[in-house]
Amino acid sequence: MTKQLFKPKKQFVNRYTRAGKSGKQITCPKCSSTWTVFHFSWYSLTCQSCLEDINKSEWEIYCDN
Ligand SMILES: [Zn+2]
Repeated sequence: MTKQLFKPKKQFVNRYTRAGKSGKQITCPKCSSTWTVFHFSWYSLTCQSCLEDINKSEWEIYCDN
């Protein structure tokens, strides 16, 4: 098993994900564009870069807070 020390830990948006005061950066799984969202009261979001409809649970989060 290879250790990838510098790879950020990938998480997915889940029902416990909160945006917080300054928003949260989420990354599109299709095109890797990163967007800042300020709330998670949606079920899916259209990526403004690749225009794919991405379900909430498929958006990726690479850094916490
Ligand atoms: Zn995209």
